Amino acid sequence: MTKHFSTMEHDVWLPYRFALGPAFYKWFEGLKEEKIWGTKCPKCGKVLVPARSFCPDCNADMDEWVEVAQEGEIVAWVQANRPFYGAPVEPPFIAALIRLDGTACNFLHLVGGLDGGDAEAAKAKVRRGSRVKAVWADEKKGHMLDLKYFQPV
Ligand SMILES: [Zn+2]
Repeated sequence: MTKHFSTMEHDVWLPYRFALGPAFYKWFEGLKEEKIWGTKCPKCGKVLVPARSFCPDCNADMDEWVEVAQEGEIVAWVQANRPFYGAPVEPPFIAALIRLDGTACNFLHLVGGLDGGDAEAAKAKVRRGSRVKAVWADEKKGHMLDLKYFQPV
């Protein structure tokens, strides 16, 4: 027997703060110096970025820091055309999963430096396998957007 419930739509707003911990602290501090830090697992050798304190595959502590490449390739991407809560920038924008060279996971960030007036030309440069490189903001705050975006090379 199916039970029916009356429902209503309601937006939940839940601002919060969390302690960065040593791994994220060093990672965000690195962004101020235009460095992208990863950590290397002592068991499987994977380098993960952003840096993590333990390997999710081996559960081993990851305390070897590795400055990773600022270039990589697009694994998947999406174009956001509508505003949404928590969007990193005003739409339209392109977000992509990027595999930085030498790392073992995908890193979600923005793709920019494209001709915003020509969407088709921009899409031609943003494809699975497209090479991209980091572009840094002029002013650094220890924030994810210190790394302004990745630009096709
Ligand atoms: Zn591991």
